[in-house]
Amino acid sequence: MPTAAADVFHLPKPPTFATAEEERRYRKQRLAAAFRLFSRFGFNEGVAGHITARDPERLDHFWVNPFGMHFGRIRASDLILVNDRGEVVEGHHPVNVAAFAIHSQVHAARRDVVAAAHAHSLYGKSWSSLGRLLDPITQDACAFYEDHALFADFTGVVYETSEGERIAKALGAYKAIILRNHGLLTVGHTVDEAAWWFITMDQSCHAQLLAEAAGKPVKIDPAQAEATKQLVGTQRAGWFQFQPLWDLITSEEPDLLE
Ligand SMILES: [Zn+2]
Repeated sequence: MPTAAADVFHLPKPPTFATAEEERRYRKQRLAAAFRLFSRFGFNEGVAGHITARDPERLDHFWVNPFGMHFGRIRASDLILVNDRGEVVEGHHPVNVAAFAIHSQVHAARRDVVAAAHAHSLYGKSWSSLGRLLDPITQDACAFYEDHALFADFTGVVYETSEGERIAKALGAYKAIILRNHGLLTVGHTVDEAAWWFITMDQSCHAQLLAEAAGKPVKIDPAQAEATKQLVGTQRAGWFQFQPLWDLITSEEPDLLE
């Protein structure tokens, strides 16, 4: 049933590439667009937050935002390439040690994912303080039904890879993790997918905070939550949900592609 259900909407597929060069350019442009969108959604707080994209050739290297640059100003050419030792091997900006500590371990543990997103978004970090998983109280929240984890620990700012390793272990095979007292982290098989999961997860945190402040939300029953996840929570659905945002941001801020 899951495969048939996922095909109901006949969603298009993410593109494929003839060369690593083309794929790298695509990933970097998508990454720059994701930062611009995170800025629009207000996910930036000072210098916190990072989205990473694995390099298509050097698989233990990833592209990431320059430490200290506002998400709303990032262009593809501003992104830096970091190796598995945390050294910047392309680009002229420093890397945030927290970005390396967390994302290097997530990319190493999850060979299937291309991208990981983390930011200190308001609703995500507010929800994280409750130390609970999200409940399937809306259709959209079903994307995370039995597909996200809780890192039920807080030991200060993450700057050691050993802490990133613990986070990656807690994430397991899921698409997202709630870092208690900290915020959200999502992963995807495309930059688009990872960014979309982050955006919609923050919205689901907002929705559950509102609903619980007003009363006792009704949970969707497990069978329906699972069936809904098979529609809204697939890799392809996550990628596709990002496409209108890509169209909007690249038409309004085309300099991000440079
Ligand atoms: Zn953080």
